[in-house]
Amino acid sequence: MSFNFETTYTTLPASFYREIGPNRVKEPCMLLWNERLAQQLNVDDERENVDLFTGSQQRDYIAQAYAGHQFGHFTMLGDGRAMLIGEHAYQQHRVDIQLKGSGRTHYSRGGDGRAGIGPMVREYIISEAMHGLGIPTTRSLAVTATGLPVYREEVQQGAVLTRVAASHLRVGTFQYARHMLDENAVRDLADYAMARHYPSLEQGNYIDFFRVVMNRQAQLIAQWQLVGFVHGVMNTDNMTISGETIDYGPCAFLDVFQSNQVFSSIDQQGRYRYSQQPAIGGWNLTRFAETMLPLIDDNEEVAIASLEEVLKSYPRVFGDAWLAGMRDKLGFATARPEDKSLAEQLLTLMEAQQADFTTTFRALSEGTAIKDLGEWKKQWTARLEQEGTTVEEAQQRMQRVNPAIIARNYYVEAAIQDAEAGNMETAKVLVEALQNPYIVREEHAYLRTSPAMAKPYVTYCGT
Ligand code: AMP
Ligand code: MG
Repeated sequence: MSFNFETTYTTLPASFYREIGPNRVKEPCMLLWNERLAQQLNVDDERENVDLFTGSQQRDYIAQAYAGHQFGHFTMLGDGRAMLIGEHAYQQHRVDIQLKGSGRTHYSRGGDGRAGIGPMVREYIISEAMHGLGIPTTRSLAVTATGLPVYREEVQQGAVLTRVAASHLRVGTFQYARHMLDENAVRDLADYAMARHYPSLEQGNYIDFFRVVMNRQAQLIAQWQLVGFVHGVMNTDNMTISGETIDYGPCAFLDVFQSNQVFSSIDQQGRYRYSQQPAIGGWNLTRFAETMLPLIDDNEEVAIASLEEVLKSYPRVFGDAWLAGMRDKLGFATARPEDKSLAEQLLTLMEAQQADFTTTFRALSEGTAIKDLGEWKKQWTARLEQEGTTVEEAQQRMQRVNPAIIARNYYVEAAIQDAEAGNMETAKVLVEALQNPYIVREEHAYLRTSPAMAKPYVTYCGT
């Protein structure tokens, strides 16, 4: 089966996008193809269609307009190196099929619109890892090579990622409508987003719309925290309305637990550090709320009060999701008042002992040796006894929620280096292992720990 494109985004006013023609490539070729995802989407016939997946096929593509706060500063952005092929409708679903790195668009500003093979393979691996963990995310269908050089600090091979998303509507899309267009544009966009993602909401009930987006984001960020994922660039243009994780740039999973960990080379202030992610989520949602003001009430004060009332519950929604997840991670089947403190104490101990985030929870789940948790472990065992759960029962449950295998920085880098040298096997093996991170196959056991990294891990975005 081939794609079944039924694009609805273009029903929005023309100021929300630009149509563009194909881009030039030299020697297009398929590097990575996600067979599982292709089958799910019913698009297996497209496997060899490298022209489509490099953006060089003769057809119209769409670059979407958006704005956003980047590290706190508001800017006009838009798809500078991405373009939508269309919305693929299958069974009861509709997903965007988007190319990233395919070339310049109307919104490229000074950029070349291209991407190097390294960052695209990185996004492919980590987005699929997130999916394997059961965390809402955009998916990766393919990585192709363009055969063109891309000029960064070093010359890289040009590559294009094919991204699959519930949509690419962002908080930044609303900011664009509100600050660059007008109230009608915000209403059109909100109606479109509600119909597409939250069809059960009452039409025109923008407060409920705001609440459901807020709740999705709170739950998403809680899930990141629970697996030690640092997004790295939580700019408002990288926050989706659907609640999917998007834009894997300088992101990474924590090895050693450090609550102030930043991986991004450009995040000098630590704005997007691990411990800050929940608060930044709230900051971004406040920017989202601001765009909705004219839809809520003609009287701005009334509108502000209504949205603030909803926003007030963000810390609680996040906290509840996080604590529920922590209870699962610790094997508790019931809720007790001391659970939050127990979870926090464990994290404090892990940080003090420089323990590996993933390994600690997994070792606790498997009953294998971990750094000395002494007193804490006694409290944990006592807590389980109180609810009448044996340690063994708890551990069985825990193994279903504490991954053994994550996309460890060391192995992601190894896969990228091999890909750059023309060998895609390392990436394929890694992605395969990450599909089911809760079960360890013998041949993937080496992925459970990180060989010591020679230097602190840093990643670069926008490359
Ligand atoms: P990102 O860091 O991928 O979220 O990108 C932030 C903004 O910069 C988006 O509007 C991108 O489209 C744009 N951008 C990033 N890299 C390039 C590039 N090489 N050429 C043109 N635009 C780019
Ligand atoms: Mg982005």
